[in-house]
Amino acid sequence: MLTLGKYSIGVGDRFAHQAKAQLEACILGVKAGVDVVPVWNKSNREHLIIGSEPSSVRAAADAAVAELGWKLPYYCDADHINLSTVERFLAPCDFYTMDVADYIAKPAEQASIDNFIRKHSELKGTIRLEGSTEPIEISAELLSQTAAKFLFAIQEAGKIYRTIEAAKGKGRFISEVSMDETDFAQTPAELLIILAAIADEGIPIQTIAPKFSGRFNKGVDYVGDTAKFAQEMSLDMAAIRHAVAAYGLPGNLKLSVHSGSDKFSIYPAIYASMKEFDTGVHLKTAGTNWLEELIGLAESGGDGLALAKEIYAEAYAHSAELCAPYATVIDIDPTKLPAPAEVNGWTSEQYTSALRHDQRSPAYNQSLRQLLHVGFKVAAKMGPRYLGLLEANEAVIAKNVTGNLYERHIKPVFLGQSAS
Ligand SMILES: [Zn+2]
Repeated sequence: MLTLGKYSIGVGDRFAHQAKAQLEACILGVKAGVDVVPVWNKSNREHLIIGSEPSSVRAAADAAVAELGWKLPYYCDADHINLSTVERFLAPCDFYTMDVADYIAKPAEQASIDNFIRKHSELKGTIRLEGSTEPIEISAELLSQTAAKFLFAIQEAGKIYRTIEAAKGKGRFISEVSMDETDFAQTPAELLIILAAIADEGIPIQTIAPKFSGRFNKGVDYVGDTAKFAQEMSLDMAAIRHAVAAYGLPGNLKLSVHSGSDKFSIYPAIYASMKEFDTGVHLKTAGTNWLEELIGLAESGGDGLALAKEIYAEAYAHSAELCAPYATVIDIDPTKLPAPAEVNGWTSEQYTSALRHDQRSPAYNQSLRQLLHVGFKVAAKMGPRYLGLLEANEAVIAKNVTGNLYERHIKPVFLGQSAS
């Protein structure tokens, strides 16, 4: 049975060139005393935008692991797949993120809702969660509303799970259910009900990605009440522990934090809750590696800097089209975007300091960063011209990719240390 370790990090990059640099960050983690298992993920959406095949992620991961002699487990995640897109991920992947956010609030058959409510009378009333002083209150009304809202989506996850199981065999892959790309956060009470339904559906999930409160915009810091987030995360962990015991879900079940890169202001809370509940998290970061490539290119100067400027100009010109697929996970203030003519006059230092996520730097521009984050399609269109410069400037780029992942992510989340 494939079992995901306590600490894991979703890595990967749009163009499958940084697997080695990412693995180097995990190696630094092991040296510092924490085994963080890498999971290379790339969503179906990103594959479609780039025109890549899921097998390319597997090939890059396998090559990096062989080259660096990584001995711990590693996985390839079919990220945000559903029944209609899972097929080409069946051979190369061993981790599946079944995205059912689009099915939330679609009506399940009344009989199955009634059944669920009848079967789970234990979910009604005051539920005391071990390790938490705050009980969860579930009224009869909340139970039936939540069942009505999520049951159809969970049945859909069941269909996806069984399709994968039929192809790969039981226990030969890791299952995650994601509901993060939606407008409304799920409360810890809803999470508990959802987990009961997932257990009923027979899905042995090892990670679950709820939507947390606050905004998880791509590549920038958390926006929201960090104290409220801390409380919610610790209740979610308590709900998971309760569901594992009550419904027989896998004992290593943990939260998966999507759009997890660069959420610096909540990393201390994530670390503290993990310690409190002696559990781990799966932190998904992948998209920002492409920004590290851009930073590396800009830092290299010459052709690299020129290309980074060209990519900005193109992204600026096509911002509406590039942003559309990411509407729920970006927040760009168009008035803060510099005109391409201005950016064309920038030095390496000006470009990298606008883009690099250093909140202490007055030059840091989060609107520019988010636009470039969704702008990888521009680089994909450049094809060999972009890839050639990536290869020519590999050393500078790798330094940025490894440093970002280790210093700004693995250290604060899994070691409880601030970036140096
Ligand atoms: Zn996600």
